[in-house]
Amino acid sequence: MQLYSTSNKDLRVSFRQAVFNSLPADKGLYMPVTIPVLDTYFIQHLQQYTLQEIAFKIASALIGDDVPEDDLRKIVNGAIDFEAPVRPLDSGTAVLELFHGPSLAFKDFGARFMSRIMAFLSQDDDRVLDVLVATSGDTGGAVALGFLGVPGTRVTILYPKGKVSPVQEMQLTTNGHNIRAVEVDGTFDDCQALVKEAFNDQELKSIFRLTSANSINIARLIPQTFYYFYAYAQLQAQGIREVVFSVPSGNFGNIGAGLLAYKMGLPVKQFIAATNVNDTVPRFLQSGRYEPRPSVQTLANAMDVGNPSNWVRIMDLFDGNEEILKQVVSSYTVTDAETREAIRTLSDQYDYTACPHTAIAWLATANYRKQNPGEYAAVFLATAHPCKFPEVFPRDIAARIVTPQQVSLLEGREKQVTALGTDFESFKSYLLRNR
Ligand SMILES: *Cc1c(COP(=O)(O)O)cnc(C)c1O
Repeated sequence: MQLYSTSNKDLRVSFRQAVFNSLPADKGLYMPVTIPVLDTYFIQHLQQYTLQEIAFKIASALIGDDVPEDDLRKIVNGAIDFEAPVRPLDSGTAVLELFHGPSLAFKDFGARFMSRIMAFLSQDDDRVLDVLVATSGDTGGAVALGFLGVPGTRVTILYPKGKVSPVQEMQLTTNGHNIRAVEVDGTFDDCQALVKEAFNDQELKSIFRLTSANSINIARLIPQTFYYFYAYAQLQAQGIREVVFSVPSGNFGNIGAGLLAYKMGLPVKQFIAATNVNDTVPRFLQSGRYEPRPSVQTLANAMDVGNPSNWVRIMDLFDGNEEILKQVVSSYTVTDAETREAIRTLSDQYDYTACPHTAIAWLATANYRKQNPGEYAAVFLATAHPCKFPEVFPRDIAARIVTPQQVSLLEGREKQVTALGTDFESFKSYLLRNR
């Protein structure tokens, strides 16, 4: 796989370079020079394959030249070792549950695949690969658990003290082994600033082999295409041909992967970008003007993004052609009040407990159907397990959440965390003391 930068289409880098740089120096994003289209026979018979088989087929179409077949199969099977079921909600609507991995969020797909790819591409380097990551919650858990036990890697997670949910904090701080947690007495932005400064520090760079587990890394995008194909496979098995996907969107990595799957030949009727009031993309699709705004805090906090970093990738997939893009992508904006109402309706009418992000995606399917009646399956993506956001639910709904094994296993485990301030010197000396 060769990649260019969305800011410079003449640039060429290898898959390895794209993985370890995360993003090009020109601040664009890496995109594949050619997007392979899967053969029609395979797509018409998707239902015959398992999630792992589909994942392997897609991964080899994209990066089969960079990773030998046997290794790629091991990477896929190790990374994608949990299910992604499509469950019916009513006659025309179904939910694709992406929260059955170790951190209970869809980010497990990206983080687990990327960790194994990075370890594979580091085989000939005897230095440990040091991953630094700042998190406001969900990313850190997925990265921590994605790298846990992966040989040759070590992860340092920085999170803002007191600003992540109890389940998230347990996922960050109780791992031990090659994962360590630092709680910073500040905000997420402070954590991010510390990580950035570490990457620019000559002394640290000469001692450690540093990398970021950035969400825009191409190795996180690729595995997110797998579950769109697999969801289609499950619907195909029920005789359904027309599918609409509703994707709760913040940085637009998830829906970006869906659109990549579409370009690889997956027959999707429509994608719905469902956002909270951070509505830069819905406003763009209405007005044609891309005007980012500072992010606003909402109930669906993993989507509180004012300037979605993956949007340039999506524009690039459509060669900047807004009209064609608009035929494939619609969007809906959902307020906090509507999110609470949607959570209530899902619980009372459908006996389904949805996290706030998921509830937004469901409401968008309901709105879309009002405007577009017809015979199709509307599939909304459940991006996290509700137990990660306990503060959002009224007591009666919270009581119905079944605690998954991933959480019960954490209970009683010892929290191991280093408390630091926001100054770079203490973070640097922490890294140097703990080589
Ligand atoms: C990260 C996240 C999102 C947003 O995904 P993007 O790829 O950034 O659009 C939605 N829901 C949950 C639960 C998340 O953790």
